[in-house]
Amino acid sequence: MAYMAAETPVPSLSSMIADTPDADKYSVCVHCGFCLEVCPTYQELFDENQSPRGRVYLIKEAAEGRLSLDAAVIDPVFTCLDCRACETVCPSGVQVGALIEEARGQVHAEQLPRGINRGLEKLVLRHIFPYPVRLYAIGGLLKVYQRAGLRWLVRRLGLLRILPPHLREMEAVLPAVKARPALQTLPPRMAAQGVRKATAALFTGCVMDVLFASINEATARVAVRNGLEVVVPKQQLCCGALQIHAGDRQQARDLARQNIDAFLATGAEYVIINAAGCGAALKEYPELFRDDPEYHSKAEEFSGRVRDISELLVEVGFEAPTGRVERTITYHDACHLCHAQNIRDQPRRILRSIPGLKVVEMQDSERCCGSAGIYNLIHPQMAGQLLERKMDDVPEGVNAIAMGNPGCMLQIRVGAHRRHQDVDVLHTVELLDMAYAEEAR
Ligand code: SF4
Ligand code: SF4
Repeated sequence: MAYMAAETPVPSLSSMIADTPDADKYSVCVHCGFCLEVCPTYQELFDENQSPRGRVYLIKEAAEGRLSLDAAVIDPVFTCLDCRACETVCPSGVQVGALIEEARGQVHAEQLPRGINRGLEKLVLRHIFPYPVRLYAIGGLLKVYQRAGLRWLVRRLGLLRILPPHLREMEAVLPAVKARPALQTLPPRMAAQGVRKATAALFTGCVMDVLFASINEATARVAVRNGLEVVVPKQQLCCGALQIHAGDRQQARDLARQNIDAFLATGAEYVIINAAGCGAALKEYPELFRDDPEYHSKAEEFSGRVRDISELLVEVGFEAPTGRVERTITYHDACHLCHAQNIRDQPRRILRSIPGLKVVEMQDSERCCGSAGIYNLIHPQMAGQLLERKMDDVPEGVNAIAMGNPGCMLQIRVGAHRRHQDVDVLHTVELLDMAYAEEAR
């Protein structure tokens, strides 16, 4: 591989001070290429630069000052989905995701151009997601839009035509927003049913709680049903995953500090989360604080308690439901559940425990659907191609697709809408909650 340095001097990664990509992460790549065939962007573009091996090489060259930090590096670094499929197959344990995030952090810190609407990204990630009041106000507006006939009027007048096609599709599949997020409606403490096994503090998330508050409510019910006392720390904020993906590590650290303090103060043995992307970010907080001795140890204590809800249910032992859910479903492995957290078996064990539920495995269920945080908003073409592949793999005859991540749920709803497929897109915990509810009938 030969890469040309830019003629105009631009910074290299080694010229910057904080959070530079670790040599001990990229130096272990042995260039074997095992990662190429699982990389979604390489599969679409057949360009070495858009592969894990190519990206690791580019980051190494830039970090060691042999390559300028220009478009030749920046584009592959930002075209990466951060899906971590490469990490699952890498024999050397290269932490491609962490390298990508650190490289993005350098680009963000230097405010280098990277071909996306930085103003829009800044508005969303800096000025909306970190502020629950603003986020919930948007949720309230969405609810009014959906329920007060505004949506009908906007569609009738053709006003949605001003939106690009991918945003029009997203609008079409938005779930009905609840009046209030679960962070506000759930009581701060819910007693365990039966013998208390442990206390779990519920992380409600931001996208999950605005668009899918009912899944947070289902998560709390299912946890309580299985002997967990559930507490809901009201001081929690967005996890910072989207900020980390965008390279805004400072904002992510600010959010992480507040979350760590709020959750450790509860004294709960576990922190439960039902969004794969947020769960992976929470478990990786220590990486964010590697240069901060005080918060690094707190982050380790906090992250050691974080469990995906499916992971914790299997760990503490969940009660198999007796209620029936008569459906034929398939399961999509969210990247940040399977590749980033190695959680594959637990959701399937839960699904297979439900009477009446027929689970049909999906081919390449671990391939990214193209959602990847806000990737589908800023790279609609690549995200659209990956969504087509994902929908091609949905087995015939299923009437629901289960998964454990809100971003994937929205993206796959778009896929089903595009193909006029009559399938429900559900969270794993919703299906278990439905089965428990059926017992009472
Ligand atoms: S699989 Fe791992 S070691 Fe092999 S080329 Fe890819 S990143 Fe490098
Ligand atoms: S994280 Fe995903 S998109 Fe990025 S290099 Fe690895 S496999 Fe490819």
